[in-house]
Amino acid sequence: MKTTHVAETKCPQCACAIDAHTHLSGDDATPTPGSLSVCLRCAAYLSFNDDLSIRPLTTAEFEALPLDVRLLLRKARRAAWEVVPVELQVGKRKL
Ligand SMILES: [Zn+2]
Repeated sequence: MKTTHVAETKCPQCACAIDAHTHLSGDDATPTPGSLSVCLRCAAYLSFNDDLSIRPLTTAEFEALPLDVRLLLRKARRAAWEVVPVELQVGKRKL
């Protein structure tokens, strides 16, 4: 996996600082508008806006994604839950 460091921003769900992104496939991890992510502090699904700020991915947006992308996000969320404190976990009851 390749990690790319970016200007610090805050997770819109838990407000933790985010200054790096890692691409699961090992490709270039530089986010672009529309890129998807999972916060490793709270496991929230995130989406990049046109200005590369991040916002929570809505349930409707998630459900409109191709199945392989939804499965990849769920896999990343499950991995994040392994290290995220229970009180900060987002969406655990929705699986
Ligand atoms: Zn978060």
